[in-house]
Amino acid sequence: MSQASSAPLGDQAFLRTDLRGHAFDAPYAGVRSFMRRRYSRDLNGVDVVVSGVPLDIATTFRSGARLGPAAMRAASVQLNERLYPWGFGPCEHLSVIDYGDCVLDMHRPATIHDAIANHARGILASGATMLTLGGDHYITYPLLRAHVERLGRPVALVHFDAHCDTWADDEPDSLNHGSMFYKAVREGLVDPARSVQVGIRTWNDDFMGIEVIGADAVHERGPEAIARRIAEVVGDAPAYLTFDIDCLDPAFAPGTGTPVPGGLSMAQAQAILRRLLPLNVVGMDVVEVAPAYDHAEITALAAAHVAAEMLCLLAARRAAVAAA
Ligand code: MN
Ligand code: MN
Repeated sequence: MSQASSAPLGDQAFLRTDLRGHAFDAPYAGVRSFMRRRYSRDLNGVDVVVSGVPLDIATTFRSGARLGPAAMRAASVQLNERLYPWGFGPCEHLSVIDYGDCVLDMHRPATIHDAIANHARGILASGATMLTLGGDHYITYPLLRAHVERLGRPVALVHFDAHCDTWADDEPDSLNHGSMFYKAVREGLVDPARSVQVGIRTWNDDFMGIEVIGADAVHERGPEAIARRIAEVVGDAPAYLTFDIDCLDPAFAPGTGTPVPGGLSMAQAQAILRRLLPLNVVGMDVVEVAPAYDHAEITALAAAHVAAEMLCLLAARRAAVAAA
């Protein structure tokens, strides 16, 4: 109940007026917006927009990630406070709203790409940064398109995943969560020379020139060396962080569509993410949480914490840039 603001107690999802700060909400009660932020479509003065993209028709194995955004919101209820080891809550420094979910018509697959891209275009036009909750990983493709349009240059992709998602696919209209980064590189949305994939443990003959740091390399070299290498590869390029929850080992994230053993622990992922302060992060997403396969909500809990780490990273970076 510390860090009180003028917000009323309880149900901050629709009662809070101040977009910053924390106020008491019993973690088991009330409407569950992400980190108890206000549900709002007013983009005035907003630093970060959290929104859901509940898609799961681009999966190659088990679907169910359409319920991911709701599960991550529900799992975020304990994050409405100062966070370890940062010593602050990201919403003390950033004005954050929960924008709700992108409206998709899954009965008309041909409309999906533009529905997601237009959702992002509308938010990015306000100058806010997006933190998007998936949905299957296909959503990152139209999200990247909107970000690159806004920036006017390709992004460095910082991609946590068991899979490279660069399998060859020359069908422009395909909805496939395993090929969208092939398309993104070919279309110039992603600069492969500045991009890196972490946690990979499935093979592709062609990684499109992106640096691959396998899960085995994380286990052998440790998070600090991996974070240093990510920062070297990305440099000062605008970085888009995308975290497929199957980067984590199925022991930590069973609730996902295409699990692969041998992955990162949550502790390894946190230790890497917390060291990415040198990156100029311009967009973020957490994808592939499929609650039907989850146990004791551990996957959704891990995903909510990954999203919170990303917000802390952004808050700390902005504070550092402002102080410099
Ligand atoms: Mn993926
Ligand atoms: Mn994956």
